[in-house]
This record gives sequence, C-alpha cells and structure tokens, in this order.
Amino acid sequence: MSILTTVKEVLQASTQSANRGDVTEEMSNGAYWCDDCDERIRDVDVEGEGPPDCPTCGDEMRFERSQGSTGCAC
Ligand SMILES: [Zn+2]
Repeated sequence: MSILTTVKEVLQASTQSANRGDVTEEMSNGAYWCDDCDERIRDVDVEGEGPPDCPTCGDEMRFERSQGSTGCAC
C-alpha cells in the first residue's frame, strides 16, 4: 500500500474537476428576451447582428442589458 500513489490520484482528480468552461458568461453584455414565451437567448449565443426571432412564437426578441455590468458615472 503506497501513500504516494493515493496523493497522486487525488491531485489528478482535482485538476480535472477544476477545468470547467464557464468563461463565456463573463463576455455577455445581456440577453434577448421574449416576454410572451419567457424565452431567453444570450447575446453571445446569437449569430450575426440584430435581434433574433423567438424560437417559440417567431416575434422579434427584446434586448436587455445585464444589470450592474455597465455603470456609467457621467
Ligand atoms: Zn415568443
């Protein structure tokens, strides 16, 4: 029975679990909403320019900035 082997396995496991891809949330300025359907699409998930159509009802979606990220003090 080797303690060294056990420590090595624990280190490898923690390295793998720490490698998560949640960085894209930081890049988002807001999201598009459809009030009727409660559909939400983040701006970073929208391809091209302009508001996308709601996948449920087909209406143009409304852009809403995420709160607190752009505090203009002028
Ligand atoms: Zn809709």
